[in-house]
Amino acid sequence: MKTTSRKQTIAFAIEYAKTLKLGDIILLAGDLGAGKTTFVQGLAIGLGLDVEVTSPTYAYMHSYADKLYHFDCYRLKSGAEAEILGLTDYFDANGICVLEWAENIAEVLPQNCKKINIQKVDENTREIEVL
Ligand code: ADP
Ligand code: MG
Repeated sequence: MKTTSRKQTIAFAIEYAKTLKLGDIILLAGDLGAGKTTFVQGLAIGLGLDVEVTSPTYAYMHSYADKLYHFDCYRLKSGAEAEILGLTDYFDANGICVLEWAENIAEVLPQNCKKINIQKVDENTREIEVL
């Protein structure tokens, strides 16, 4: 799926949110500036949450209404570290987890995670792949 504006990516994420069930875990991949946080803003809207989504870089995880859990694993070095911080507990919290840089904690990820890859094509174009 190709989007040509931030708004279109949000619209796509709103639609995608409708396919989710509580307990789902989504691995969201893409380089810096690809649109991962933008995508999560759309997920929040699609889940009916009236919240401002910001990057959880320094907090590791932001919880929105205990329904949407947004992780940034960029600064984690291992799955063990995620466990020590209690982050992995949220996988079983019956919300929807969306993870950026999940590869850093690969050993502790549950099976059957959903995957979204976002690639920057040019300034305003993104290729979004749902796996
Ligand atoms: P990431 O979280 O992957 O680092 P952000 O979502 O924070 O990325 O930033 C994406 C940036 O790219 C925003 O400034 C956004 O306005 C811009 N952008 C331009 N075109 C698009 C598009 N088609 N989809 C998503 N973001 C886009
Ligand atoms: Mg981000």
